[in-house]
Amino acid sequence: MEFTESSLKKEDAVHTAEVMAGDGWMYALKKGQVLRITDLKGNQAVDTIFFNAQNTMERYHSTNTIVGQQNVYISTGTALRSNENNVMLTVVADTCGRHDTLGSACSCESNTVRYALDKRYMHSCRDIFLKALLDWGCDMDKRDQVCNINFFMNVPVNPDGGSNFEDGLSEPGKYVELRAEMDVLVLVSNCPQLNNPCNAYNPTPVEMTIW
Ligand SMILES: [Zn+2]
Repeated sequence: MEFTESSLKKEDAVHTAEVMAGDGWMYALKKGQVLRITDLKGNQAVDTIFFNAQNTMERYHSTNTIVGQQNVYISTGTALRSNENNVMLTVVADTCGRHDTLGSACSCESNTVRYALDKRYMHSCRDIFLKALLDWGCDMDKRDQVCNINFFMNVPVNPDGGSNFEDGLSEPGKYVELRAEMDVLVLVSNCPQLNNPCNAYNPTPVEMTIW
């Protein structure tokens, strides 16, 4: 795993926001702007989808991203690709070293299937995505929630081809930085999941910083 530090200074940022666990966040990132996501307390999972701001039918595509770089993990240098195979953003700094784009977002259905029937009513990223889209005021809904990125989440692929959710590799203050290569809408659910170790059973806030 490689670690790449950023030279950007927080005092030069144009916007910062703290996103509590279980909250959504949306932002219109202009081409050339940089978004840093900081894992304030460590071991958090930050579920994220990107849309072309001019044409939201173009959106993040995990398979094109994996095939494009011949690597299942996201880290410095990864070109985040769309369903039209255009590069939407580039990972330009990363002090965590590994991010997932296989595990997708938690939902009431996955809570039920993976854990127990009575977990159905717990908060989930799919519902947080939906609320963030409604709050933003666009016409997107559940059908627009494609397989996403889970920043800071550790989902290793085993030699036999399976994968599982593992205890996180991230620590307090670790960050990942993305440069927008087109105008993008950023949709985030700061994961509230309590039933697997992706958040160390203790979901915590993250910070968004934009230059
Ligand atoms: Zn989640």
